[in-house]
Amino acid sequence: MRFLRRFVQLGALAGFLYILYRTNFVKGIKIPALFLRLDPLAFFANLSSRSLPIFLFPALILLIATLLLGRFFCGWICPWGTVLDIFRRIARWLRLDRIASLNPPLWLKYAILAVGVVLSLFGVSFIFILDPLSLSTRLWGWLVFMPLDKTKIVWSGLAVVPVILLELFASRFWCRSLCPLGALLGLFSYFSLIKRKVNENCIDCGKCQRICPMSAVGDDPRSTKASECTLCWDCVKPCPVKAISFGKGGRKEVSLPGRRAFLSSLGLGLIMGVLFRKTRFQSSTLIRPPGARREEEFLGLCIRCGECIRACPTGGLRPALLEAGWEGIATPRLVPRIGGCASYCNLCSEVCPTGAIKPYKLEDKANIKIGIAKVDYNRCIAYAEGKDCLVCQENCSYQAIALLPGPKKAKIPKVRPRRCVGCGMCENHCPAEGPAAIRVYRRD
Ligand code: SF4
Repeated sequence: MRFLRRFVQLGALAGFLYILYRTNFVKGIKIPALFLRLDPLAFFANLSSRSLPIFLFPALILLIATLLLGRFFCGWICPWGTVLDIFRRIARWLRLDRIASLNPPLWLKYAILAVGVVLSLFGVSFIFILDPLSLSTRLWGWLVFMPLDKTKIVWSGLAVVPVILLELFASRFWCRSLCPLGALLGLFSYFSLIKRKVNENCIDCGKCQRICPMSAVGDDPRSTKASECTLCWDCVKPCPVKAISFGKGGRKEVSLPGRRAFLSSLGLGLIMGVLFRKTRFQSSTLIRPPGARREEEFLGLCIRCGECIRACPTGGLRPALLEAGWEGIATPRLVPRIGGCASYCNLCSEVCPTGAIKPYKLEDKANIKIGIAKVDYNRCIAYAEGKDCLVCQENCSYQAIALLPGPKKAKIPKVRPRRCVGCGMCENHCPAEGPAAIRVYRRD
């Protein structure tokens, strides 16, 4: 069974990577973002925005399967869990896992989930910074399938380095203590039909307690913390009296946080929600991709998976730092100086798994205004230096740049606000040194 589990884990990781690899402009999307659609956290984020997330129904199937089989997803399918298992194996092989051994607090992930739920009531889906499916999509998508740059290295480094370090101190530290998806599935799996069972042959040797990578064996080895067990089967073979099996029944133990920790996390969520609201901020150059919903709704729905960022053929979509305030960290924003929004592409709207970017037809793109270009005549070569320069006009697909007589010999550009959609191709191609002489700003 352990061999079968490894096989399924590696198969699921390969499937996950294949889907990521196919989701780009050149390859076209052949398979929808299936793994992200399995994410129950994304499903609840959509519910909090009061829309019916039909495309996330696979997530409901996962929850129902968890009610029947327990937290099998974490042990058998989650691509993040598989990566952790691989890290752990490498660390064991290099003998790095002996540096120190920690016993991570199991209740912490439930507290993180509670904070995330309270925040989502404020329309802040900050929890997705820690969601393993968005995390894996960001990490692999940006690190492996895209050219590297400083921002992506910082983002990926923020995700990878702590996890590697934690894995040195305890197996599946992340899954045991930090993962909000694991906490949600753990709550459902407490009621699951299939559980670890220990028969009367048990001699209390405690081997299963020591070997369990999830600390799922209770203080009495005959009982199981049902919310923690991932059905990995690791405890079955080492049992000297073959007392362990999986099936209906079995004694279970609770591993939820105490009342004080639970109330403190609700309080923390409340304080963070109010703080995020009070410090809400939007930079004047915060340009969302076409099809993005109203900012407030967008922040609630975006799960920070970075699929849109990866799919963008010009590379203009980037993860936000603080341009959208604290609650907008890692959400996509267009940086026209790096890449404009191409008139031939609507891929970000097609790959977005939660509908934070609404799908639209390419023919309608000219009517979707994401920003407005403004000319800085002090920097404009045609205006300031009197040299001919039609670059912004030539690169505008929407005929939004008119040419007017300038103060010197050359004609100067003027933006036609009705036609300008804010695609940023003008800013991207502007030959002015440093910041462009024509820049795109948010439409108020
Ligand atoms: S907007 Fe981009 S980052 Fe946010 S959920 Fe959609 S695809 Fe993922």
